[in-house]
Amino acid sequence: MGYEAEYQRSVEQPEAFWAEQAKAIHWHKPPQKILDYYDPPFRKWFVGGQTNLCYNAVDRHLAERPDQLALVAVSTETDVTREITYRELYREVNAFAAVLKQLGVGRGDRVVVYMPNMAEAVFAVLACARIGAIHSVVFGGFAAHNLAVRIDDAQPKLLIAADAGSRGGKVVPYKPLVDEACAKAATPPPKVLIVSRGLDPAEPRVEGRDVDYATLRAEVGDAEVPVEWLESNEPSYLLYTSGTTGRPKGVQRDVGGHAVALALSMRTVFDVGPGQVMFSTSDVGWAVGHSYNIYGPLIVGATSLLYEGLPVNPDAGIWWALCEKYGVRTMFSSPTAIRVLKKHDASFIRDHDLSRLKWLFLAGEPLDEPTATWIHDALGKPVIDNYWQTETGWPVLCLLPGLDLKPVKFGSPGLPNLGYKLRVIDETTGLEAKANEKGVLVIEPPLPPGCMTTVWRDDQRFLSSYFSHFKELLYSSLDWAIRDEDGYTFILGRTDDVINVAGHRLGTREIEESVSGFPAVAEAAVIGVNDELKGQVPVVFATLRQATDEQAARVQAADGMRKTVERTLGAVARPARVYIVNALPKTRSGKLLRRSLQALAQGSDPGDLSTLDDPNALEEVKRALQRGPEVGS
Ligand code: ATP
Ligand code: MG
Repeated sequence: MGYEAEYQRSVEQPEAFWAEQAKAIHWHKPPQKILDYYDPPFRKWFVGGQTNLCYNAVDRHLAERPDQLALVAVSTETDVTREITYRELYREVNAFAAVLKQLGVGRGDRVVVYMPNMAEAVFAVLACARIGAIHSVVFGGFAAHNLAVRIDDAQPKLLIAADAGSRGGKVVPYKPLVDEACAKAATPPPKVLIVSRGLDPAEPRVEGRDVDYATLRAEVGDAEVPVEWLESNEPSYLLYTSGTTGRPKGVQRDVGGHAVALALSMRTVFDVGPGQVMFSTSDVGWAVGHSYNIYGPLIVGATSLLYEGLPVNPDAGIWWALCEKYGVRTMFSSPTAIRVLKKHDASFIRDHDLSRLKWLFLAGEPLDEPTATWIHDALGKPVIDNYWQTETGWPVLCLLPGLDLKPVKFGSPGLPNLGYKLRVIDETTGLEAKANEKGVLVIEPPLPPGCMTTVWRDDQRFLSSYFSHFKELLYSSLDWAIRDEDGYTFILGRTDDVINVAGHRLGTREIEESVSGFPAVAEAAVIGVNDELKGQVPVVFATLRQATDEQAARVQAADGMRKTVERTLGAVARPARVYIVNALPKTRSGKLLRRSLQALAQGSDPGDLSTLDDPNALEEVKRALQRGPEVGS
C-alpha cells in the first residue's frame, strides 16, 4: 500500500489501523478496547491489554535469534567494545532485575538512571521495564542541579549511576555530582547503585546508601526474574524535556502504545527489521536514545549499535568504520554531529565500504542545506530529515522509506507520519492556515500511541502546556510551520522564539535562516533584545566559516548579514546589532541556548547553564558584548 492510502486509513479508521499494528508485538493478554478517549485530551490505547517492554525487547527473540547480536556497545573513550547477543542480553537484564529486586524496587517505583552510553545503561533500563519499575534516565552530561531537579520530581526509590563518564579522554566522575544532587534534593533516593568501570576508583561510598553493582551482580549469579505484566497504559518511563525553554517537564510514556508505535516506525520510517543493524548516535539520555537505541531496534529483533565517544576520535572516520564493520543498514544522527564531521575531509567517509548502509536519518534541529548537501555528497546515500519531540517519542514529520519513499524536499522534514492528524493553525484566528502560510503546528487529539500520556503527576501542566493555546482542543507543538500544497511541512522555529519589533511578530528562526543565507556565515543565533523605542530588536550572534581577526573583514561580513536580512525579510527584521564570535553557546545535544544568550545581551542573569556544552562559548559571547558589535550600536 502506498503512503497516501495507509496514512488516510491511519487517521480515518484509527482503531482498525492500530488494532492491526498491535499485532506486531507480544501481548500476554490482548487489548479489550483499542482506544478509550475517555476524558479528552486524555486517552488510553490498547485498554486492558497486558504486555511488557522488556519481554518484547529480549525474551521474545530468544527462541529465534539467541546468538544474534542484540547490542554492540562501542566506547572510544574506554577503548572497550562489547558485543552482546540476545542470549547474553537476557542473562544480563535478568541479573540486573534481580539486583533491583534485592534493593527493594518494585512495580511503579521510580528509578533514576544517570549513566553514559554504556551497555549497563541498557541493562538497567530493560531491567526496570521487566519488573514494572518506572525508569527516568537523566543525561550524563547534566550537572548536579539538573539531576536534583529531576530527582525531586520523580522521587526515585533508587538512583543508578556510573562511576564516571568520559569525554574526549577526560574522565568526568559522576559520584561527586550524585552526592551534590542528593544533598540538594528534598527527596534524595534512599539507595544509590554504582556501576563502576574503574574510571574513578577513588570516590568513597556513602555508608548505608551506596551499593556497588559488581558485588550484587556476583551475588545474584544467573538468577532469572519473571516478567511483570503491565496494563498497556501503566507508565513505563519518565523523560524530562531538555529544558531549553524552561523548567523541564516529566514526559510520561505508557507501555503498549509505546511498543506498538516503535514497532511500526522501525519498519515504515527507519526500514529496519529482524537481523538488521541500526546505529543511532544519540545519547541514551534523550528520547532518540530511548526509542531508537534501546527499545525500537530490540523490539523488532534488530541489532542496536551504541556509541560512547566523540565522532572524531580517534579520527573523523570512526562512525563509518563501525558502519562497515557491523554492516549498519540505518544510521540516525543529528545535524550538529554532521557539522562537526564537516570540518574534516570527506575522505574519512569515502574510505569505508558502506555498501550495506542504506539511509542516514537526521533529527533534533533544523537541517540546513549546506550540511545536508555535504553529507549527501560524501555518503552517496539518501539523507532523511525527520521532526519530532521528546513528547511524541517517535517521528511526527518524516518520509517513510520502509513503506513508500517520497521525494526529499530540501528544508522540510517531510509528510505527516502514520497516525498523526496534523494541522497548521493561524495563531490569531485559530483557523487553519492556507498552504504556504505560517502558523503553529498542532496535532489533533487523541494523540497516537507512543506519544506522552501526561506530565508526571501533573495533568494540569499537561493541559496548560500543550492543549490550552487555541479555542479548539489541540496539541500545540509550540513550533512554527508552513505546509506547502503537496503536504510537506517546513519547521520555522519555536513559538516562544518570537520577538516583537514595533508591533511586528518575527520568528528568530526565520531571521537566522536569512542570516545564514549570507555565504560567509557558518552559524547564527538571533535573539530579541529590549529596546525603548521598538519594544524589541533582533540581535545577531554569528560564527564565520573562515574565522578572522581582521576587523575590516568582520565588519564587512556583519554588514552583509544585515543587508541579506533586509533584502529577504524586510527592513523591520533588520538586525540592530551583529556580533561575530568564534563559538555559540549550545547544549550537548546541539541546541542553541538562546535564553542564556538573550539574558547576557540584556545584562541579566543567564540562569542555569549546566547544560552548556562548551564554557568557552559563553566567554566568547561575554567578550563580544564588552567589545561591542561589528555593526550597529
Ligand atoms: P524543551 O521542550 O524542554 O524546551 P526541547 O524542545 O529542546 O526542550 P526536544 O523534545 O528534544 O527538547 O526537542 C524537540 C524540538 O526540537 C522540536 O519541538 C523542534 O523545535 C526541534 N526539532 C526537532 N527535530 C527537528 C527537525 N527535524 N527540524 C527542525 N526542528 C526540529
Ligand atoms: Mg520542546
